[in-house]
Amino acid sequence: MQPKVGILILGDQLSWHHPALTEAVPGETVVILAEVAEEALYVRHNRHKIVLLFSAMRHFATALQKRGFDVQYYRFEDGVASLLEACSRAHATWELDQLQLCEPGEYRLSEQMEGWSEQLGIPVSVLADSRFLASRSDFADWAAGRKQYRMEYFYREMRKRYGFLMEGSQPEGGKWNYDAENRSGWRGQCEIPARLAPVLDDTTSEVIETVLAHFPYNPGDLTAFRWSVTHEAAQAELDWFCEHALPLFGTYQDALAESSPWLFHGLISMYLNCGLLEPLAVCEQVETAYRRGHCSLAAAEGFIRQVLGWREYVRGLYWYQMPDYRELNALAAVRPLPEWFWTGSTDMRCLSQALKQSLDLGYAHHIQRLMVIGNFALIAGLSVSEVCDWYLAVYTDAYEWVELPNTLGMALFADGGIMASKPYAASGKYIQKQGDHCKACRYDPKKVTGDGACPYNSLYWDFIHRHSELLGQNPRMGLILGGWRKRAQEDRQAVLEWAENILDDLSVL
Ligand SMILES: Cc1cc2nc3c(=O)[nH]c(=O)nc-3n(C[C@H](O)[C@H](O)[C@H](O)COP(=O)(O)OP(=O)(O)OC[C@H]3O[C@@H](n4cnc5c(N)ncnc54)[C@H](O)[C@@H]3O)c2cc1C
Ligand code: SF4
Repeated sequence: MQPKVGILILGDQLSWHHPALTEAVPGETVVILAEVAEEALYVRHNRHKIVLLFSAMRHFATALQKRGFDVQYYRFEDGVASLLEACSRAHATWELDQLQLCEPGEYRLSEQMEGWSEQLGIPVSVLADSRFLASRSDFADWAAGRKQYRMEYFYREMRKRYGFLMEGSQPEGGKWNYDAENRSGWRGQCEIPARLAPVLDDTTSEVIETVLAHFPYNPGDLTAFRWSVTHEAAQAELDWFCEHALPLFGTYQDALAESSPWLFHGLISMYLNCGLLEPLAVCEQVETAYRRGHCSLAAAEGFIRQVLGWREYVRGLYWYQMPDYRELNALAAVRPLPEWFWTGSTDMRCLSQALKQSLDLGYAHHIQRLMVIGNFALIAGLSVSEVCDWYLAVYTDAYEWVELPNTLGMALFADGGIMASKPYAASGKYIQKQGDHCKACRYDPKKVTGDGACPYNSLYWDFIHRHSELLGQNPRMGLILGGWRKRAQEDRQAVLEWAENILDDLSVL
């Protein structure tokens, strides 16, 4: 029988739990997958992300065909401009009765899709994305009537709802959060286990050629491509993580290491965000590792909090606050991004390493994103929109629903505190405490002014000074502000002048 129901699966929805797919009948369904120019070009995506998605889409198409589905696949070279054009072409070929979609991850697409039914001339149903553990309306219900949307309270609700790490109605071990045990700095205390070697099959190699040919100016060193492109391979990476890295995940969650871009992190966000892994199964696997005594409660709780808590929370917040959220700029940050954000060429060792690995590998761990790159952008007052565009472009796991709240809200405090209870601003002292970059740096983390002074130091105090009025309303900033105000006038003046010099020309750092 000629298939009549079309299901469009987006590149970040490659899941067998896609809400349209779970009910779909092979033989009556045509699945549409398309590598379209509009999606590939709307920001300067890291080439790692494009290769991961195109290759994963091609593998998923093959897997769907093996399960008996008809698949209409458009490759990038087929010149399909937009997702709508892909559906339109598929409709012309298959004479569809209807089109089914899963709600997209980005507001931009959701707006576009509203007009599709009329433009295609067939009914279009947009189904809720059941892969998330809190629906948009769950979050809206939780947020309604609250003055503040603190992740910690949302997370507790999610723990109770899903029963992760619970003893009846109480949290396992008596505490909800073991964050205080998860803050060790890195001093080379132990061996960091080597990651699984990447396996590139013919499909991925072919996609790499396409991407090199069509995206010559995008960031991403594809000789270092290491990402999994199938459900099975992503699962193998998760298994490896649980076995080898999870036990020390919590301890070194906030650490910074010269010798490793990965430390003990999961390296799974890119898979969760495109459907190769599912958040529920990931949390279950980590809880099982804890129950069989393989890792501590602090490690398991720390990890589950990221996936069940932070990930769901930022997604809920994004949909709850859009479209106005994107326009917020509470600290009026407008300084242009220095050119070296796109090359990593700065003498600031911590920053150079975090930028280079972000550009080359499409990956940086959370503390690099938040306390090295984001912290610099915050205290230097870099343009919120330019910084958000940068984050959206460089990471393999970047989609607006997760990038925007993390960047605009958590890192830049541009939402004025909707997401974070205080700005994540820090001086070089914090970076020195958390890792071993400073030893290799031409700057001195102990100096605030003068030749060789670590730029984070004077910029930090300049930030505190510049925003003292707003920060003065925040009880969590009282101690720091009080300390700054008590310093001798000439001392403060020297720091502010030094910071001004730096801000005058960021290109020389
Ligand atoms: C400024 C900034 C921008 C960010 N942009 C993105 C982004 O575009 N895409 C993205 O997936 N994450 C983003 N994050 C969150 C976090 O840094 C990454 O999810 C994490 O570094 C991914 O690496 P991992 O898989 O090794 O994570 P791990 O450290 O192993 O953590 C496990 C998982 O928890 C989830 N997680 C942890 N923290 C967060 C968080 N704050 N928000 C959402 N999920 C979280 C991720 O799915 C991650 O895979 C950003 C954070 C900051 C501060
Ligand atoms: S001295 Fe400052 S710039 Fe250099 S690595 Fe340390 S914190 Fe970073």
